[in-house]
Amino acid sequence: MLNIKKIKADFPIFQNQPDLIYLDNAATSQKPQAVIDRLVQFYANENANVHRGVYPLSERASEAYNLARKKVAQFIGAQSSSEIIFTKGATESLNLVAQSFAIHQLKSGDELLVSDFEHHSNFLPWRDVCDKTGAILKVLNSDQNGFIAEEEWQKKLTKKTKLVAIAHASNVLGTISDIKNIAQMVHAYGALLVVDGAQAIPHLQIDVQALNCDFYAFSGHKMLAPMGIGVLYAKAAILNQMLPYQLGGGMIESVSLDKVVFAPYPEKFEAGTPNVAGGVALAAAIDYLEKIGLAKIRAHEIALSRYLLNGLAQIKKVRVFGQAAASERTGLVSFYVEGVHAHDLSDFLAKKNLALRAGFHCAMPLHQSHACGATLRASYYLYNSEKDLESLLINLTEAINYYG
Ligand code: PMP
Repeated sequence: MLNIKKIKADFPIFQNQPDLIYLDNAATSQKPQAVIDRLVQFYANENANVHRGVYPLSERASEAYNLARKKVAQFIGAQSSSEIIFTKGATESLNLVAQSFAIHQLKSGDELLVSDFEHHSNFLPWRDVCDKTGAILKVLNSDQNGFIAEEEWQKKLTKKTKLVAIAHASNVLGTISDIKNIAQMVHAYGALLVVDGAQAIPHLQIDVQALNCDFYAFSGHKMLAPMGIGVLYAKAAILNQMLPYQLGGGMIESVSLDKVVFAPYPEKFEAGTPNVAGGVALAAAIDYLEKIGLAKIRAHEIALSRYLLNGLAQIKKVRVFGQAAASERTGLVSFYVEGVHAHDLSDFLAKKNLALRAGFHCAMPLHQSHACGATLRASYYLYNSEKDLESLLINLTEAINYYG
């Protein structure tokens, strides 16, 4: 069991805004003091640019950044820290795969598969690749719960499939995809698998080698780290085939007027001054999560999902999206209230200090395939309690009565 009171005390936003009931963790998480302190400590004591100076301060900054890379590699079970590329977030990581890999590898007539529940960040880069290469974008249709049936996979995967891009967990349905099984199917056709882990990494213990995915993309800010730092994991053999799409300082071995030799990866894909403070603070976020215990956090979220799903089932006019089984979704529930606009509901709830997101959650195709308008999404994390959700249920009932 988590000691929520103690955990909450680690997050200054809840001291500064004691009435806040924050249920928008799928958009971004709050930050513990340990992460904020790490940022301040870096800028107060270690700030220098990395890789370019041989003076002690720069060496210290470089060492802290390298250690952060190692920590991330260990956290996700990568074989080597050189398979970890720092980016500004999941969006940049996915665009990096698209522009540094897919656009060079795919040709006219090849096929690229995505699901119908993807976030725009794992849909638009692939559309662009297809537009520019003549490859064909095919969509895997999921059922109401966000599961893609085996037959659908077998129907859409062909010898022409070169790349499959799928979310590990949907940011609307919360459904967790069986990546290990998907990787097996995809590899059997000789294709590669890109996993958008933005909504999975805050909640699940990730082991990229066990999953056997070829790429894994995520953001730090949804897992207690600052905004502006993210990761792309790619298998070493694939990194060898990738070409940098951003060029500049920090990513070269040598440059003359007519020749450039790129630095080895990961630096090769990190042109310009990196977000060193963000990287070291991401390592601090990992330390914090590991100290609390990922398994305990997961058990807590499952209990919260169960409570919320039960409560919502008792409110008339509410239609819940995604899996009924709490253990098969991440810490979020999206729902739709017949006859009341999600934005009206979120406005009403905001007046009661409840912070929830209403809209399409950057997944418009999913809302179209579920034939519904904007949804409300409650997403929770290690510092949320049943009491927070009880407040949501009470105020939601009040809002529905008010508008209904
Ligand atoms: N994929 C999914 C599933 C997401 O939920 C998000 C963030 N909402 C992203 C990608 C993009 O993440 P970011 O905005 O941090 O780059």
